[in-house]
Amino acid sequence: MLDKALTRSDWEAKAATLKPEGRAFIDGRYVPSQSGATFTKTSPIDGRVIAEVADCGAEDIELAVKAARSAFEDGRWRNKPPAERKRILLRFAELIRADLERLALLETLDVGKVIGNSLAVDVPFCADCIQYYAEFADKSFDEVAPTGPNDLAIVRREPLGVIGAIVPWNYPLIITAWKIGPALVAGNSVVLKPAEQSPLSALRLGGLAKEAGLPDGVLNIVPGFGERAGKPLALHVDVDMISFTGSTEVGKLMMRYAGESNMKRVALECGGKSPHVVLADADLDAAASGIAWGIYYNQGETCHAGSRVIAHASIKDELVRKIGEVAAQQIPLGHPLDPAAQMGALVEKGHMQRVLDYIDIGTGEGARIARGGKRVMEETGGFYVEATILDGVEPQYRVAREEIFGPVVVVTSFDDEVEALKIANDSIYGLAAAVWTRDMGTAHRFTRDLRAGTVWVNCFDKSSLATPFGGFRQSGFGRDRSPHAIDKYMDFKTVWTAY
Ligand code: NAD
Repeated sequence: MLDKALTRSDWEAKAATLKPEGRAFIDGRYVPSQSGATFTKTSPIDGRVIAEVADCGAEDIELAVKAARSAFEDGRWRNKPPAERKRILLRFAELIRADLERLALLETLDVGKVIGNSLAVDVPFCADCIQYYAEFADKSFDEVAPTGPNDLAIVRREPLGVIGAIVPWNYPLIITAWKIGPALVAGNSVVLKPAEQSPLSALRLGGLAKEAGLPDGVLNIVPGFGERAGKPLALHVDVDMISFTGSTEVGKLMMRYAGESNMKRVALECGGKSPHVVLADADLDAAASGIAWGIYYNQGETCHAGSRVIAHASIKDELVRKIGEVAAQQIPLGHPLDPAAQMGALVEKGHMQRVLDYIDIGTGEGARIARGGKRVMEETGGFYVEATILDGVEPQYRVAREEIFGPVVVVTSFDDEVEALKIANDSIYGLAAAVWTRDMGTAHRFTRDLRAGTVWVNCFDKSSLATPFGGFRQSGFGRDRSPHAIDKYMDFKTVWTAY
Protein backbone atom coordinates (compact mmCIF):
# COMPACT_ATOMS: atom_id res chain seq x y z
CA MET A 1 0.00 0.00 0.00
CA LEU A 2 1.16 3.53 -0.66
CA ASP A 3 1.62 5.51 2.55
CA LYS A 4 2.87 8.84 1.19
CA ALA A 5 3.08 10.74 -2.05
CA LEU A 6 6.32 9.64 -3.67
CA THR A 7 8.45 11.88 -5.86
CA ARG A 8 10.16 10.99 -9.12
CA SER A 9 13.43 10.35 -7.31
CA ASP A 10 11.66 8.05 -4.81
CA TRP A 11 10.27 6.05 -7.72
CA GLU A 12 13.63 5.98 -9.47
CA ALA A 13 15.25 4.65 -6.31
CA LYS A 14 12.61 1.93 -6.08
CA ALA A 15 12.99 1.08 -9.75
CA ALA A 16 16.76 0.71 -9.30
CA THR A 17 16.32 -2.03 -6.69
CA LEU A 18 13.33 -3.79 -8.21
CA LYS A 19 13.91 -7.46 -9.03
CA PRO A 20 10.94 -8.56 -11.13
CA GLU A 21 10.04 -12.23 -11.47
CA GLY A 22 10.55 -13.27 -15.07
CA ARG A 23 9.88 -17.02 -14.88
CA ALA A 24 6.69 -18.65 -16.04
CA PHE A 25 4.06 -19.54 -13.44
CA ILE A 26 2.88 -23.10 -14.06
CA ASP A 27 1.03 -25.44 -11.69
CA GLY A 28 1.52 -23.08 -8.77
CA ARG A 29 5.29 -22.61 -9.19
CA TYR A 30 7.63 -20.19 -10.88
CA VAL A 31 9.66 -22.18 -13.40
CA PRO A 32 12.14 -21.35 -16.16
CA SER A 33 11.15 -22.12 -19.74
CA GLN A 34 11.76 -25.79 -20.65
CA SER A 35 14.44 -24.77 -23.12
CA GLY A 36 16.04 -22.39 -20.62
CA ALA A 37 15.67 -19.57 -23.14
CA THR A 38 14.97 -16.04 -21.93
CA PHE A 39 14.46 -12.68 -23.56
CA THR A 40 15.64 -9.36 -22.22
CA LYS A 41 12.88 -6.97 -21.26
CA THR A 42 13.87 -3.33 -21.55
CA SER A 43 11.87 -0.31 -20.50
CA PRO A 44 10.53 2.13 -23.10
CA ILE A 45 11.08 4.90 -20.54
CA ASP A 46 14.84 4.96 -21.07
CA GLY A 47 15.91 1.68 -22.62
CA ARG A 48 17.17 0.19 -19.32
CA VAL A 49 17.08 -3.58 -18.86
CA ILE A 50 14.40 -4.51 -16.31
CA ALA A 51 14.28 -8.29 -16.42
CA GLU A 52 15.20 -11.52 -18.13
CA VAL A 53 11.92 -13.20 -18.99
CA ALA A 54 11.24 -16.85 -19.81
CA ASP A 55 10.92 -17.17 -23.57
CA CYS A 56 8.29 -19.88 -23.56
CA GLY A 57 7.32 -22.11 -26.45
CA ALA A 58 5.07 -25.05 -27.30
CA GLU A 59 6.59 -27.31 -24.64
CA ASP A 60 5.81 -24.79 -21.87
CA ILE A 61 2.29 -24.32 -23.20
CA GLU A 62 1.92 -28.10 -23.10
CA LEU A 63 2.85 -28.19 -19.39
CA ALA A 64 0.57 -25.29 -18.58
CA VAL A 65 -2.41 -26.78 -20.43
CA LYS A 66 -1.81 -30.15 -18.71
CA ALA A 67 -1.75 -28.46 -15.31
CA ALA A 68 -4.88 -26.48 -16.12
CA ARG A 69 -6.65 -29.59 -17.40
CA SER A 70 -5.92 -31.71 -14.31
CA ALA A 71 -7.00 -28.87 -12.05
CA PHE A 72 -10.25 -28.69 -13.97
CA GLU A 73 -10.89 -32.42 -14.15
CA ASP A 74 -10.31 -33.18 -10.47
CA GLY A 75 -12.59 -30.30 -9.52
CA ARG A 76 -10.17 -28.73 -7.03
CA TRP A 77 -11.50 -25.31 -7.96
CA ARG A 78 -14.85 -25.67 -9.72
CA ASN A 79 -16.24 -28.01 -7.04
CA LYS A 80 -15.27 -25.86 -4.08
CA PRO A 81 -18.24 -24.43 -2.21
CA PRO A 82 -19.21 -21.12 -3.87
CA ALA A 83 -18.57 -19.12 -0.71
CA GLU A 84 -15.05 -20.54 -0.56
CA ARG A 85 -14.34 -19.58 -4.17
CA LYS A 86 -15.62 -16.11 -3.40
CA ARG A 87 -13.43 -15.83 -0.32
CA ILE A 88 -10.31 -16.80 -2.28
CA LEU A 89 -11.00 -14.36 -5.11
CA LEU A 90 -11.77 -11.55 -2.66
CA ARG A 91 -8.49 -12.26 -0.93
CA PHE A 92 -6.76 -12.17 -4.33
CA ALA A 93 -8.24 -8.70 -4.93
CA GLU A 94 -7.05 -7.55 -1.50
CA LEU A 95 -3.52 -8.82 -2.15
CA ILE A 96 -3.44 -6.92 -5.46
CA ARG A 97 -4.43 -3.74 -3.59
CA ALA A 98 -1.81 -4.38 -0.94
CA ASP A 99 0.81 -4.75 -3.69
CA LEU A 100 -0.13 -1.42 -5.26
CA GLU A 101 3.31 0.16 -5.29
CA ARG A 102 5.14 -2.78 -6.78
CA LEU A 103 2.51 -3.62 -9.38
CA ALA A 104 2.24 0.02 -10.45
CA LEU A 105 5.99 0.28 -10.82
CA LEU A 106 6.17 -2.94 -12.86
CA GLU A 107 3.41 -1.68 -15.13
CA THR A 108 5.05 1.69 -15.67
CA LEU A 109 8.54 0.30 -16.28
CA ASP A 110 7.24 -2.39 -18.60
CA VAL A 111 5.10 -0.25 -20.92
CA GLY A 112 5.93 3.40 -20.23
CA LYS A 113 2.56 4.53 -18.88
CA VAL A 114 2.71 7.26 -16.24
CA ILE A 115 3.03 6.17 -12.63
CA GLY A 116 0.08 8.33 -11.51
CA ASN A 117 -2.24 6.34 -13.76
CA SER A 118 -0.73 2.98 -12.85
CA LEU A 119 -1.39 3.83 -9.19
CA ALA A 120 -4.82 5.41 -9.53
CA VAL A 121 -6.27 3.38 -12.39
CA ASP A 122 -4.49 0.23 -13.58
CA VAL A 123 -3.83 -1.50 -10.26
CA PRO A 124 -7.08 -0.50 -8.49
CA PHE A 125 -9.22 -1.32 -11.54
CA CYS A 126 -7.57 -4.74 -11.72
CA ALA A 127 -8.36 -5.43 -8.06
CA ASP A 128 -11.90 -4.04 -8.39
CA CYS A 129 -12.55 -6.31 -11.35
CA ILE A 130 -11.45 -9.46 -9.49
CA GLN A 131 -13.61 -8.37 -6.55
CA TYR A 132 -16.60 -7.64 -8.80
CA TYR A 133 -16.54 -11.15 -10.27
CA ALA A 134 -15.77 -12.81 -6.92
CA GLU A 135 -19.16 -11.63 -5.72
CA PHE A 136 -20.94 -13.68 -8.38
CA ALA A 137 -19.56 -16.95 -6.99
CA ASP A 138 -22.42 -17.39 -4.53
CA LYS A 139 -25.02 -15.20 -6.21
CA SER A 140 -25.52 -16.86 -9.60
CA PHE A 141 -28.44 -19.24 -10.05
CA ASP A 142 -29.31 -21.86 -12.64
CA GLU A 143 -32.76 -22.21 -14.20
CA VAL A 144 -35.69 -24.58 -14.00
CA ALA A 145 -37.47 -24.68 -17.36
CA PRO A 146 -41.27 -24.92 -17.65
CA THR A 147 -42.35 -28.56 -18.23
CA GLY A 148 -45.35 -30.83 -17.71
CA PRO A 149 -46.15 -32.06 -14.19
CA ASN A 150 -44.01 -35.22 -14.21
CA ASP A 151 -40.81 -33.78 -15.55
CA LEU A 152 -38.07 -31.62 -14.15
CA ALA A 153 -35.83 -29.77 -16.62
CA ILE A 154 -32.90 -27.94 -15.11
CA VAL A 155 -30.74 -25.65 -17.21
CA ARG A 156 -27.35 -25.65 -15.58
CA ARG A 157 -24.52 -23.29 -16.42
CA GLU A 158 -21.20 -25.09 -16.43
CA PRO A 159 -17.63 -23.92 -16.89
CA LEU A 160 -16.07 -24.64 -20.27
CA GLY A 161 -12.81 -26.14 -19.01
CA VAL A 162 -9.43 -24.69 -19.97
CA ILE A 163 -9.42 -21.07 -21.12
CA GLY A 164 -6.49 -19.65 -23.06
CA ALA A 165 -6.27 -15.90 -22.47
CA ILE A 166 -4.06 -13.88 -24.82
CA VAL A 167 -3.73 -10.21 -23.96
CA PRO A 168 -2.06 -7.04 -25.28
CA TRP A 169 0.35 -4.62 -23.64
CA ASN A 170 -1.62 -1.40 -23.40
CA TYR A 171 -3.53 -2.14 -20.17
CA PRO A 172 -1.83 -5.36 -19.05
CA LEU A 173 -3.35 -5.63 -15.56
CA ILE A 174 -6.81 -4.36 -16.41
CA ILE A 175 -7.34 -6.54 -19.47
CA THR A 176 -5.91 -9.57 -17.68
CA ALA A 177 -8.42 -9.01 -14.88
CA TRP A 178 -11.25 -8.64 -17.43
CA LYS A 179 -10.37 -12.16 -18.63
CA ILE A 180 -9.41 -14.06 -15.50
CA GLY A 181 -12.10 -12.55 -13.20
CA PRO A 182 -15.12 -13.99 -15.06
CA ALA A 183 -13.26 -17.10 -16.29
CA LEU A 184 -12.21 -18.09 -12.76
CA VAL A 185 -15.48 -17.32 -11.03
CA ALA A 186 -17.18 -19.53 -13.61
CA GLY A 187 -14.97 -22.41 -12.40
CA ASN A 188 -12.56 -22.68 -15.33
CA SER A 189 -8.80 -23.09 -15.34
CA VAL A 190 -6.78 -20.47 -17.22
CA VAL A 191 -3.55 -20.34 -19.20
CA LEU A 192 -2.65 -16.69 -19.64
CA LYS A 193 -0.20 -15.49 -22.31
CA PRO A 194 0.71 -11.87 -21.59
CA ALA A 195 2.12 -9.72 -24.37
CA GLU A 196 5.89 -9.96 -24.82
CA GLN A 197 6.09 -6.21 -24.14
CA SER A 198 4.33 -6.49 -20.76
CA PRO A 199 4.86 -9.80 -18.94
CA LEU A 200 5.92 -8.52 -15.51
CA SER A 201 2.72 -7.50 -13.75
CA ALA A 202 0.94 -10.63 -15.01
CA LEU A 203 3.69 -12.85 -13.62
CA ARG A 204 3.40 -11.11 -10.28
CA LEU A 205 -0.34 -11.90 -10.23
CA GLY A 206 0.45 -15.64 -10.29
CA GLY A 207 2.19 -15.51 -6.91
CA LEU A 208 -0.54 -13.33 -5.42
CA ALA A 209 -3.26 -15.72 -6.61
CA LYS A 210 -1.45 -18.62 -4.97
CA GLU A 211 -1.03 -16.66 -1.74
CA ALA A 212 -4.77 -15.98 -1.82
CA GLY A 213 -5.43 -19.72 -1.87
CA LEU A 214 -6.15 -20.35 -5.55
CA PRO A 215 -5.28 -24.03 -6.05
CA ASP A 216 -2.24 -24.91 -8.13
CA GLY A 217 -2.88 -25.30 -11.83
CA VAL A 218 -5.98 -23.11 -11.91
CA LEU A 219 -4.10 -20.03 -13.11
CA ASN A 220 -0.97 -20.50 -15.24
CA ILE A 221 0.99 -17.64 -16.78
CA VAL A 222 3.24 -18.33 -19.74
CA PRO A 223 5.23 -15.37 -21.04
CA GLY A 224 6.61 -15.31 -24.55
CA PHE A 225 6.10 -14.13 -28.09
CA GLY A 226 2.98 -14.43 -30.20
CA GLU A 227 4.22 -16.95 -32.73
CA ARG A 228 6.15 -19.12 -30.26
CA ALA A 229 3.84 -19.12 -27.22
CA GLY A 230 0.50 -17.62 -28.31
CA LYS A 231 0.07 -19.73 -31.41
CA PRO A 232 0.55 -23.16 -29.77
CA LEU A 233 -1.90 -22.08 -27.07
CA ALA A 234 -4.50 -21.04 -29.62
CA LEU A 235 -3.95 -24.24 -31.64
CA HIS A 236 -4.00 -26.55 -28.63
CA VAL A 237 -6.67 -29.22 -28.88
CA ASP A 238 -7.17 -29.39 -25.13
CA VAL A 239 -7.98 -25.69 -24.80
CA ASP A 240 -11.72 -25.06 -24.82
CA MET A 241 -11.72 -21.37 -25.55
CA ILE A 242 -9.42 -18.54 -26.53
CA SER A 243 -10.28 -15.19 -25.04
CA PHE A 244 -8.21 -12.73 -27.04
CA THR A 245 -7.62 -9.00 -26.86
CA GLY A 246 -5.28 -7.44 -29.40
CA SER A 247 -5.09 -6.32 -32.98
CA THR A 248 -7.71 -7.16 -35.57
CA GLU A 249 -5.05 -8.84 -37.69
CA VAL A 250 -4.08 -11.30 -34.94
CA GLY A 251 -7.74 -11.67 -33.91
CA LYS A 252 -8.46 -13.11 -37.34
CA LEU A 253 -5.64 -15.64 -36.82
CA MET A 254 -7.41 -16.81 -33.65
CA MET A 255 -10.45 -17.77 -35.69
CA ARG A 256 -8.23 -19.64 -38.11
CA TYR A 257 -6.40 -21.49 -35.34
CA ALA A 258 -9.71 -22.52 -33.79
CA GLY A 259 -10.89 -23.87 -37.15
CA GLU A 260 -7.64 -25.69 -37.76
CA SER A 261 -7.65 -27.35 -34.33
CA ASN A 262 -10.65 -28.29 -32.19
CA MET A 263 -13.29 -25.68 -33.05
CA LYS A 264 -12.62 -24.07 -29.69
CA ARG A 265 -14.66 -21.00 -28.90
CA VAL A 266 -13.12 -17.66 -29.61
CA ALA A 267 -13.94 -14.30 -28.05
CA LEU A 268 -12.25 -11.34 -29.71
CA GLU A 269 -11.66 -7.79 -28.53
CA CYS A 270 -9.76 -6.04 -31.28
CA GLY A 271 -8.81 -2.67 -32.69
CA GLY A 272 -10.73 0.57 -33.05
CA LYS A 273 -10.89 3.96 -34.72
CA SER A 274 -13.55 5.57 -32.59
CA PRO A 275 -15.23 8.76 -33.86
CA HIS A 276 -16.39 11.84 -31.99
CA VAL A 277 -19.21 13.59 -33.84
CA VAL A 278 -19.33 17.22 -32.70
CA LEU A 279 -22.46 19.11 -33.73
CA ALA A 280 -22.63 22.87 -34.16
CA ASP A 281 -24.57 23.32 -30.91
CA ALA A 282 -22.16 21.30 -28.75
CA ASP A 283 -20.59 22.59 -25.56
CA LEU A 284 -17.14 23.01 -27.12
CA ASP A 285 -15.22 23.22 -23.86
CA ALA A 286 -16.68 19.91 -22.71
CA ALA A 287 -16.11 18.34 -26.14
CA ALA A 288 -12.51 19.57 -26.32
CA SER A 289 -11.79 18.15 -22.89
CA GLY A 290 -13.43 14.79 -23.72
CA ILE A 291 -11.57 14.60 -27.02
CA ALA A 292 -8.15 15.56 -25.64
CA TRP A 293 -8.31 13.15 -22.69
CA GLY A 294 -9.90 10.51 -24.92
CA ILE A 295 -6.94 10.44 -27.29
CA TYR A 296 -3.96 11.46 -25.16
CA TYR A 297 -4.69 9.37 -22.06
CA ASN A 298 -2.21 6.48 -22.00
CA GLN A 299 -0.39 8.16 -24.96
CA GLY A 300 -3.26 7.17 -27.22
CA GLU A 301 -2.46 3.49 -26.70
CA THR A 302 -6.09 2.72 -26.00
CA CYS A 303 -8.24 0.50 -28.20
CA HIS A 304 -11.30 2.74 -27.92
CA ALA A 305 -9.34 6.04 -28.06
CA GLY A 306 -11.42 8.72 -29.77
CA SER A 307 -8.99 9.06 -32.63
CA ARG A 308 -11.29 10.63 -35.23
CA VAL A 309 -13.01 13.98 -34.73
CA ILE A 310 -15.84 14.73 -37.13
CA ALA A 311 -16.75 18.34 -36.42
CA HIS A 312 -19.33 20.68 -37.92
CA ALA A 313 -17.54 23.08 -40.26
CA SER A 314 -18.85 26.11 -38.34
CA ILE A 315 -17.09 25.16 -35.08
CA LYS A 316 -14.22 22.99 -36.30
CA ASP A 317 -11.42 25.57 -36.03
CA GLU A 318 -12.46 26.70 -32.56
CA LEU A 319 -12.68 23.08 -31.43
CA VAL A 320 -9.19 22.29 -32.75
CA ARG A 321 -7.81 25.29 -30.88
CA LYS A 322 -9.50 24.19 -27.66
CA ILE A 323 -8.28 20.58 -27.96
CA GLY A 324 -4.75 21.96 -28.29
CA GLU A 325 -5.25 24.11 -25.19
CA VAL A 326 -6.44 21.18 -23.08
CA ALA A 327 -3.46 19.12 -24.22
CA ALA A 328 -1.03 21.93 -23.43
CA GLN A 329 -2.52 22.92 -20.08
CA GLN A 330 -3.73 19.65 -18.59
CA ILE A 331 -1.94 16.71 -20.18
CA PRO A 332 1.81 17.25 -19.85
CA LEU A 333 4.13 14.76 -21.48
CA GLY A 334 6.89 13.78 -19.11
CA HIS A 335 9.05 11.14 -17.52
CA PRO A 336 6.66 8.31 -16.57
CA LEU A 337 8.07 8.11 -13.02
CA ASP A 338 7.27 11.79 -12.48
CA PRO A 339 3.92 11.85 -10.66
CA ALA A 340 3.00 15.10 -12.48
CA ALA A 341 3.28 13.56 -15.97
CA GLN A 342 0.04 12.69 -17.73
CA MET A 343 1.51 11.23 -20.93
CA GLY A 344 4.49 8.90 -20.94
CA ALA A 345 6.47 6.73 -23.34
CA LEU A 346 5.18 4.67 -26.23
CA VAL A 347 5.68 0.96 -25.67
CA GLU A 348 8.67 0.35 -27.94
CA LYS A 349 10.83 1.93 -30.58
CA GLY A 350 9.16 0.17 -33.49
CA HIS A 351 5.75 1.31 -32.32
CA MET A 352 6.95 4.90 -31.90
CA GLN A 353 8.31 4.80 -35.43
CA ARG A 354 4.97 3.49 -36.70
CA VAL A 355 3.18 6.44 -35.05
CA LEU A 356 5.68 8.93 -36.54
CA ASP A 357 5.31 7.27 -39.94
CA TYR A 358 1.54 7.75 -39.76
CA ILE A 359 2.05 11.45 -39.06
CA ASP A 360 4.18 11.63 -42.23
CA ILE A 361 1.62 9.63 -44.18
CA GLY A 362 -1.10 12.04 -43.04
CA THR A 363 0.79 15.16 -44.06
CA GLY A 364 1.71 13.45 -47.33
CA GLU A 365 -1.98 12.86 -47.95
CA GLY A 366 -2.76 16.54 -47.37
CA ALA A 367 -3.35 16.87 -43.61
CA ARG A 368 -1.99 19.82 -41.67
CA ILE A 369 -0.28 19.43 -38.30
CA ALA A 370 -2.23 21.71 -35.97
CA ARG A 371 -0.26 20.58 -32.93
CA GLY A 372 2.68 18.33 -32.06
CA GLY A 373 3.89 15.84 -34.62
CA LYS A 374 7.39 15.19 -33.32
CA ARG A 375 9.44 12.80 -31.26
CA VAL A 376 10.66 14.44 -28.03
CA MET A 377 12.85 13.61 -25.01
CA GLU A 378 15.12 11.55 -27.24
CA GLU A 379 18.05 12.15 -24.87
CA THR A 380 16.35 9.87 -22.28
CA GLY A 381 16.76 6.86 -24.54
CA GLY A 382 12.96 6.43 -24.38
CA PHE A 383 10.19 6.69 -26.96
CA TYR A 384 8.07 9.82 -26.66
CA VAL A 385 5.79 11.52 -29.19
CA GLU A 386 3.99 14.83 -28.65
CA ALA A 387 0.22 15.11 -28.41
CA THR A 388 -0.64 15.60 -32.05
CA ILE A 389 -3.59 16.98 -34.02
CA LEU A 390 -3.88 16.37 -37.76
CA ASP A 391 -6.39 18.80 -39.23
CA GLY A 392 -7.95 18.91 -42.69
CA VAL A 393 -8.19 15.14 -42.92
CA GLU A 394 -10.48 13.67 -45.56
CA PRO A 395 -12.39 10.48 -44.70
CA GLN A 396 -10.52 8.45 -47.33
CA TYR A 397 -7.04 9.27 -45.94
CA ARG A 398 -5.24 6.31 -44.40
CA VAL A 399 -4.84 8.25 -41.15
CA ALA A 400 -8.64 8.47 -40.95
CA ARG A 401 -9.12 4.76 -41.58
CA GLU A 402 -6.24 2.88 -39.92
CA GLU A 403 -5.57 2.48 -36.23
CA ILE A 404 -2.51 4.59 -35.28
CA PHE A 405 -2.57 3.60 -31.59
CA GLY A 406 -0.67 6.68 -30.48
CA PRO A 407 -1.32 10.29 -29.43
CA VAL A 408 -2.66 11.40 -32.81
CA VAL A 409 -6.19 12.66 -33.43
CA VAL A 410 -7.42 13.37 -36.96
CA VAL A 411 -10.00 16.06 -37.68
CA THR A 412 -12.53 16.05 -40.51
CA SER A 413 -15.32 18.59 -41.02
CA PHE A 414 -18.91 18.05 -42.16
CA ASP A 415 -21.85 20.21 -43.19
CA ASP A 416 -24.91 18.14 -42.33
CA GLU A 417 -25.87 15.38 -39.91
CA VAL A 418 -26.40 12.71 -42.55
CA GLU A 419 -22.88 13.24 -43.85
CA ALA A 420 -21.49 13.17 -40.29
CA LEU A 421 -23.14 9.82 -39.57
CA LYS A 422 -21.91 8.38 -42.85
CA ILE A 423 -18.31 9.41 -42.13
CA ALA A 424 -18.51 8.12 -38.56
CA ASN A 425 -19.79 4.70 -39.65
CA ASP A 426 -17.45 4.40 -42.61
CA SER A 427 -14.91 2.20 -40.82
CA ILE A 428 -14.06 -1.47 -40.52
CA TYR A 429 -14.11 -0.92 -36.75
CA GLY A 430 -16.97 -0.34 -34.33
CA LEU A 431 -15.60 -0.26 -30.82
CA ALA A 432 -16.87 3.07 -29.49
CA ALA A 433 -18.19 6.47 -30.59
CA ALA A 434 -19.28 9.75 -29.04
CA VAL A 435 -21.73 12.43 -30.01
CA TRP A 436 -21.60 15.99 -28.67
CA THR A 437 -24.78 18.06 -28.93
CA ARG A 438 -27.22 19.95 -26.70
CA ASP A 439 -30.17 18.58 -28.68
CA MET A 440 -31.32 15.29 -27.16
CA GLY A 441 -33.29 14.37 -30.28
CA THR A 442 -30.12 14.58 -32.34
CA ALA A 443 -28.24 12.66 -29.66
CA HIS A 444 -30.77 9.83 -29.68
CA ARG A 445 -30.71 9.57 -33.47
CA PHE A 446 -26.94 9.20 -33.36
CA THR A 447 -26.94 6.69 -30.50
CA ARG A 448 -29.37 4.58 -32.51
CA ASP A 449 -27.48 4.77 -35.81
CA LEU A 450 -23.82 4.74 -34.80
CA ARG A 451 -22.39 1.24 -35.22
CA ALA A 452 -20.36 0.84 -32.06
CA GLY A 453 -20.29 -1.26 -28.89
CA THR A 454 -20.36 1.86 -26.70
CA VAL A 455 -21.80 5.25 -27.63
CA TRP A 456 -21.16 8.18 -25.30
CA VAL A 457 -23.32 11.30 -25.30
CA ASN A 458 -21.63 14.50 -24.14
CA CYS A 459 -18.90 12.56 -22.38
CA PHE A 460 -16.14 10.14 -23.26
CA ASP A 461 -14.71 7.03 -21.65
CA LYS A 462 -17.19 6.87 -18.80
CA SER A 463 -17.70 3.25 -17.83
CA SER A 464 -17.98 0.85 -14.95
CA LEU A 465 -17.57 -2.86 -14.40
CA ALA A 466 -21.34 -3.13 -14.70
CA THR A 467 -21.38 -2.21 -18.39
CA PRO A 468 -20.26 -4.56 -21.19
CA PHE A 469 -17.28 -3.48 -23.25
CA GLY A 470 -16.47 -4.65 -26.75
CA GLY A 471 -17.01 -3.99 -30.40
CA PHE A 472 -19.11 -4.33 -33.47
CA ARG A 473 -17.67 -5.35 -36.84
CA GLN A 474 -13.88 -5.93 -36.94
CA SER A 475 -13.46 -4.57 -33.43
CA GLY A 476 -14.45 -8.08 -32.44
CA PHE A 477 -17.22 -9.87 -30.61
CA GLY A 478 -17.72 -11.12 -27.13
CA ARG A 479 -17.91 -8.65 -24.30
CA ASP A 480 -15.59 -8.05 -21.38
CA ARG A 481 -16.97 -6.65 -18.09
CA SER A 482 -20.50 -6.87 -16.69
CA PRO A 483 -22.34 -10.07 -15.69
CA HIS A 484 -22.61 -10.96 -19.42
CA ALA A 485 -18.87 -11.62 -19.54
CA ILE A 486 -19.32 -14.64 -17.26
CA ASP A 487 -21.66 -16.31 -19.77
CA LYS A 488 -19.00 -16.51 -22.39
CA TYR A 489 -16.88 -18.72 -20.14
CA MET A 490 -19.81 -21.07 -19.46
CA ASP A 491 -22.10 -23.38 -21.32
CA PHE A 492 -25.67 -24.52 -20.75
CA LYS A 493 -26.41 -28.12 -19.87
CA THR A 494 -29.99 -29.37 -19.83
CA VAL A 495 -30.72 -32.04 -17.26
CA TRP A 496 -34.15 -33.59 -17.86
CA THR A 497 -35.62 -35.91 -15.26
CA ALA A 498 -38.89 -37.77 -15.64
CA TYR A 499 -40.61 -38.85 -12.45
P1 NAD B 1 -1.25 -7.87 -31.01
O1 NAD B 1 -2.42 -8.40 -31.74
O2 NAD B 1 0.01 -7.68 -31.74
O3 NAD B 1 -0.89 -8.84 -29.78
C1 NAD B 1 -1.86 -9.21 -28.83
C2 NAD B 1 -1.44 -10.54 -28.20
O4 NAD B 1 -1.46 -11.54 -29.20
C3 NAD B 1 -0.02 -10.53 -27.63
O5 NAD B 1 -0.01 -11.29 -26.45
C4 NAD B 1 0.79 -11.23 -28.72
O6 NAD B 1 1.94 -11.86 -28.24
C5 NAD B 1 -0.22 -12.23 -29.22
N1 NAD B 1 0.05 -12.71 -30.58
C6 NAD B 1 0.61 -12.03 -31.61
N2 NAD B 1 0.69 -12.82 -32.70
C7 NAD B 1 0.16 -14.02 -32.36
C8 NAD B 1 -0.04 -15.24 -33.04
N3 NAD B 1 0.33 -15.42 -34.30
N4 NAD B 1 -0.63 -16.26 -32.36
C9 NAD B 1 -1.01 -16.11 -31.09
N5 NAD B 1 -0.83 -14.98 -30.37
C10 NAD B 1 -0.26 -13.94 -31.01
O7 NAD B 1 -1.75 -6.54 -30.31
P2 NAD B 1 -0.91 -5.54 -29.39
O8 NAD B 1 0.02 -4.77 -30.25
O9 NAD B 1 -0.36 -6.27 -28.21
O10 NAD B 1 -2.08 -4.59 -28.83
C11 NAD B 1 -2.59 -3.52 -29.53
C12 NAD B 1 -3.89 -3.90 -30.20
O11 NAD B 1 -4.81 -4.40 -29.24
C13 NAD B 1 -4.58 -2.70 -30.83
O12 NAD B 1 -5.08 -3.06 -32.09
C14 NAD B 1 -5.72 -2.41 -29.87
O13 NAD B 1 -6.80 -1.72 -30.44
C15 NAD B 1 -6.08 -3.77 -29.41
N6 NAD B 1 -6.82 -3.72 -28.14
C16 NAD B 1 -8.17 -3.98 -28.15
C17 NAD B 1 -8.90 -3.89 -26.96
C18 NAD B 1 -10.39 -4.17 -26.90
O14 NAD B 1 -10.91 -4.38 -25.82
N7 NAD B 1 -11.08 -4.17 -28.03
C19 NAD B 1 -8.24 -3.54 -25.77
C20 NAD B 1 -6.88 -3.27 -25.82
C21 NAD B 1 -6.17 -3.37 -27.01
